[in-house]
Amino acid sequence: MKRKTSLISQQMSGQRKRLMLLAAISLALGAAIVSQAVLLAEAVQRIFVERASFSSVVMLLGLLLAVMVVRTGLSYGNGKVGLHMASSAKRNMRAAVLQSLTHASMPSTLRGQTGGKVSVALDAVDEADSYFSLYMPRMMEAAIIPILILVVTFMQHANSGFIMLFTAPFIPLFMILVGLKTKNKSEEKYAQLAEFSGTFLDSLQGLVTLKIFGRAQRQQQEIERSSLGYRDATMGILRIAFTNTFMLESIVMLSIGVVALELAIQLLVFKSMSFHTAFLVLLLVPEFYSLLKNTGTAFHSGRTSMGAVRKVEQMLEETAGGSKPADRKEGAGTPVGIDKIHKDDRISTKVKEGTLQTPFSNDVSIPPSITLDHLQFRYAPDSFKLETDRVQLRPGEHIAIVGKSGSGKTTLLHLIAGLLNPTSGEVRVNDRPRLQHDETAWFERVCYITQHPYIFAGTFAENIAIDAGRSVSRAEMEQAADEAGLTALVAQLEQGLDTLVGEGGRGLSGGEKQRLALARAFLKRPAVILFDEPTVGLDLHTERVLQRSIATLAKSATMITVAHRLYTIQRADRILFMDHGVLVDSGRHEELLVRLPQYAEMVDAQRKGGLT
Ligand code: ADP
Repeated sequence: MKRKTSLISQQMSGQRKRLMLLAAISLALGAAIVSQAVLLAEAVQRIFVERASFSSVVMLLGLLLAVMVVRTGLSYGNGKVGLHMASSAKRNMRAAVLQSLTHASMPSTLRGQTGGKVSVALDAVDEADSYFSLYMPRMMEAAIIPILILVVTFMQHANSGFIMLFTAPFIPLFMILVGLKTKNKSEEKYAQLAEFSGTFLDSLQGLVTLKIFGRAQRQQQEIERSSLGYRDATMGILRIAFTNTFMLESIVMLSIGVVALELAIQLLVFKSMSFHTAFLVLLLVPEFYSLLKNTGTAFHSGRTSMGAVRKVEQMLEETAGGSKPADRKEGAGTPVGIDKIHKDDRISTKVKEGTLQTPFSNDVSIPPSITLDHLQFRYAPDSFKLETDRVQLRPGEHIAIVGKSGSGKTTLLHLIAGLLNPTSGEVRVNDRPRLQHDETAWFERVCYITQHPYIFAGTFAENIAIDAGRSVSRAEMEQAADEAGLTALVAQLEQGLDTLVGEGGRGLSGGEKQRLALARAFLKRPAVILFDEPTVGLDLHTERVLQRSIATLAKSATMITVAHRLYTIQRADRILFMDHGVLVDSGRHEELLVRLPQYAEMVDAQRKGGLT
């Protein structure tokens, strides 16, 4: 309960003024409800009991109408304040989610499915709406108005007051019982929704692949399964909600019946009270219970919202790497590898607040030295394990990581890049742990050219300039495109650099995408280049262009390549040889040929045309 409400109370404390306004309106609403009952009882007494003339009660009826109008206005006002609170809270929560996603450290950014994150940022935040727009105003009303009604009833007829006092607690008691059950259900519902969205988006993004692999049918079944799971979770909540309403109605009807019976006995049998008092109490009692009943419904939506808010909170905690360690649910079912990443994120966040250094203290364009200091890494317990001794990569050195497929080349590159954090040991940049460096400053100096660079939906020009971190002139873009060997391709296009590429735009081949990534790098002029050499054979021309461009870029940078081409391997200053996750040896091509039989074997296979 405490954990759950921390985000909510944060939102509440920012909206104190609106809460005060809610309290004031609720008090006025209570006064209006009581006044309306008093005026109505008075009017009925005069017209039906005292048989007063219509003209003598016109004033009274006018007043009654005015009070009714005021009451409606106040109810509307309460709703309006609630809506404003909800919209501010949602705005703040969305901003917090976006903020945490954009500022999260790399490893935490890479965790989880995109669809799941979208569902939290959009749907879960939306679901939080009713907590502020419904639950809070109703709770405020329930805290003030019933007490007012109770006081008036006690003053009029203590017996009815006692009956109300004794029956009323059953309503919140019942609500708490139901609420406890709904809370788990609603969290379950969100887990289902996130899974459903994740699977759905994933399938959409991979639709072409799925079709080619003839897996579309199976994926369809997968979507059906998770959508049915979501339906069941929703139906579960609805079932509880309906039972809840039914039970509440029964309690309320029974209670009103008891009060009415007591009033009737007093009025008719003992003749101990006036019609006016009895009627007034009879008017107030349903108001009393209806308020408590509404609270029940609001309580239910409040609970559902809390499940959603909890989801948002969880995401904020996860992406922030658990800024409040005591708040984290650790242990049960968390894979050690992931857990470790969380812990490392915490270190990085902590360090961030204190002594952050830029990786390149004086001249940012000078390549740094990078040391792999007894790295160990696992994706999950008992899975693939990567290990290195201490290896120092000198500034400006050109390194080739080689090894069989699955030997851990890419994992090592990701550890160097900072996309993964080692389980133990550290990557040191300029003799300082990389985690102590500001992540943004580090990524400003690094360029990672993967085999499948991501092309954003937009123009060629926008895609080239995206990584530059500054405004880029058209001439610079053209030059970068030229250096990356894109000129011929761009010239073919009707709209040149303004042609739309990426999703919904013109498709690009693998080689073209890598050249686009290279053009980005030419604008950025990174001090560290991480390059995942294409495994598939490119045409001779593309291959040459890529090699030439990379060589130009690498002149003034430390370059680390996951190498598959003999050409690249032979030219490297140093080769890191990976075998089953272990960095076995490092040295020049000729040295390794002599002292490492596995390496000689691999090179031999390569010469005969086999790729690693
Ligand atoms: P290489 O680049 O040499 O082909 P990788 O570094 O990609 O090898 O993979 C090394 C091992 O790690 C493989 O066994 C692979 O299955 C495993 N692996 C890679 N990525 C992940 C991941 N995200 N989660 C779990 N295991 C992974």
